[in-house]
Amino acid sequence: MASSAIIRSDIEGLLADYRLPDSLAFGVELAPVMYRADFRDGQWQDGAAVPFADIPVNPASTALQFAQQAFEGMKAYQVEGPYPTLFRPNLNFQRFNKSARRLCMPAVPASLFADALSSITGLLQPFIPDGVGQSLYLRPTIFGLDPHFAVKSSERFVFLVLASPSDAYYSEPIRVVIERDNCRAAMGGTGAEKVGGNYGASLLATEKCIEQGFDQSLWLDPKSRSNIEELSAMNFMAVVAGELRTPALSGSILEGVTRDSLMLLARHLGISAGEPVMPVDDLLRDIESGRCSEAFACGTGAIISPISAIGEAAGPVFELPEVNQMAAKLMSALLDIQAGRAADPFGWMVDPRDSHQLAAQLNS
Ligand SMILES: *Cc1c(COP(=O)(O)O)cnc(C)c1O
Repeated sequence: MASSAIIRSDIEGLLADYRLPDSLAFGVELAPVMYRADFRDGQWQDGAAVPFADIPVNPASTALQFAQQAFEGMKAYQVEGPYPTLFRPNLNFQRFNKSARRLCMPAVPASLFADALSSITGLLQPFIPDGVGQSLYLRPTIFGLDPHFAVKSSERFVFLVLASPSDAYYSEPIRVVIERDNCRAAMGGTGAEKVGGNYGASLLATEKCIEQGFDQSLWLDPKSRSNIEELSAMNFMAVVAGELRTPALSGSILEGVTRDSLMLLARHLGISAGEPVMPVDDLLRDIESGRCSEAFACGTGAIISPISAIGEAAGPVFELPEVNQMAAKLMSALLDIQAGRAADPFGWMVDPRDSHQLAAQLNS
């Protein structure tokens, strides 16, 4: 009890002294508090908000040695309303536990995940920027703590929720290169889970593509190496013959919350939207013939990054005839819902203040 009272007064002091920097980028500023819960002796211990700080991690831990780690990226918005709202947190919660399970880590109960979101958004409410597209970016994280070099799971884990008061992520149109050599994810691997190892595996391709004058890699499926999958941290969409298309989930594509939301929103707006298998060579032909008018990437951070060109590393580059047309329409429709400026026909925005109520919604 004594120690939790000390932590509480520490946090009050930290928040009293905290000032947002004059200019915010996306995901750069780290909030002075975080949530932490530990798993040991076969169960989750009570969690609490604690000061944001480095934490001791054994250098031999399974997190560092074997990438036993998973995370989520989600946002709390507070633009029009008097309190923060979360965007479809049930999907992040369920995906987080799916990722954790894939790496032999214990599921976080809905009550604990809800307590974390509720307490962090509550404590940081005064620091959630309120411009359109601004948010409190939230990063739930789990990793294994046990130090050993045997290739087996930890039995102790830590669950954190980190927070970052963030500006909207304005993305200039990006140029993507078709990655014909490396794969981001394997058949039967962890491509459909949000785990750090996937990102480590993508870094070299990104570095290479920047040297070649592009911004990001467009990954193909690991089996036939002919169908479009996604970008390193965003799903892929294209407008072909007026229809919005995103590649069908293949088992190695990350099922994005933004991807799902944009498909639902498009249909709601009367735009036809489909999820076919998308051979990259067909798409290039469609760009050449004018059937494909537009392409973009989507994810929680930027929501949408328009794509201006798709090309081969040492070959032709195809400029898209339209940049940020349907993308801009979809993005503003989604932002209007997230900001509380438009009706929320799907019931996507969730009030995090009551953690019991939130826990019930996380399971839906
Ligand atoms: C997080 C992520 C996305 C986007 O998912 P959202 O839920 O929309 O943020 C897409 N692809 C990969 C590989 C990701 O890690």
